[in-house]
Amino acid sequence: MPELPEVEVVRQSLNKKIKQKKVKKVIVKNRNLRFKIPKNFSVYLKNQIITKVDRFSKYLIFHLSENGYFLLHLGMSGTVHLVKTNKKNLITNTSFYNSPVLPKKHNHVEIIFENFKIVYNDPRRFGFMEIIKNTLLLKKRFSHLGPEPFDTNFDLSYLVSSFKKKKKNIKNFLLDQKFISGIGNIYASEILFLSKINPNKRVHLLKKRDCKNILIYSKKILLKAIKEGGSTIRNFKSSSGKVGNFQKNLNVYGREGLNCKLSLCSGIIKKKIISNRSTFFCKTCQK
Ligand SMILES: [Zn+2]
Repeated sequence: MPELPEVEVVRQSLNKKIKQKKVKKVIVKNRNLRFKIPKNFSVYLKNQIITKVDRFSKYLIFHLSENGYFLLHLGMSGTVHLVKTNKKNLITNTSFYNSPVLPKKHNHVEIIFENFKIVYNDPRRFGFMEIIKNTLLLKKRFSHLGPEPFDTNFDLSYLVSSFKKKKKNIKNFLLDQKFISGIGNIYASEILFLSKINPNKRVHLLKKRDCKNILIYSKKILLKAIKEGGSTIRNFKSSSGKVGNFQKNLNVYGREGLNCKLSLCSGIIKKKIISNRSTFFCKTCQK
């Protein structure tokens, strides 16, 4: 499942390739994604120039020249492929997960430009696309989501006031998109490891120092993951030819039964299911 860093990697490659390019045609082969693709989707996009590809949390935001935006959420298994016309396409995937080349099945939408097209592939169809008519509606669309870790509003006073008197554990808090946007399961375990906080710890018990660590490491880990091209279990090159290899830097996620990577710690990494999600941590150094 793509998390914020993976979506950011897709955004960067798309922004590079389709910025200032005009949409010639849109072919919707299957409208039945998580939400139905609006009926006017093709007409709305046709002849518009994509001025910029932005992102908020795990949403890709395509800015359109005439009016508005369209959003793309990759869901559980969505990938965007960049296919050149009249050229060999060795690698088309703009991300590091799933197939490096365009699969034969599950290609639901094609957006066609002058010399190339982008194809949306999604076997499980949890992704979706929608049209947002103006900036006000865009703001409203995201009003249910908390700040990203990079946001200036995500600061010490925000954490202290959010945690006050709350009995929920910190792992669930980090996954709560109303509290913070864009932290998924892998990164939540990693942030708590570097912050030396036990994932089961109730947030009202966290000290100021713990909050500071969460602020520092959530930024640090996500930035590093973006720089490394996101993490993925399977590993291959993206359309830019770079390999996503953040998984080499994972300290706890997927390391059950292995030694803690902290040099002075003799702990063993444990796996525990918290609210149906696998959580990895070291009992010895995470208190
Ligand atoms: Zn440890």
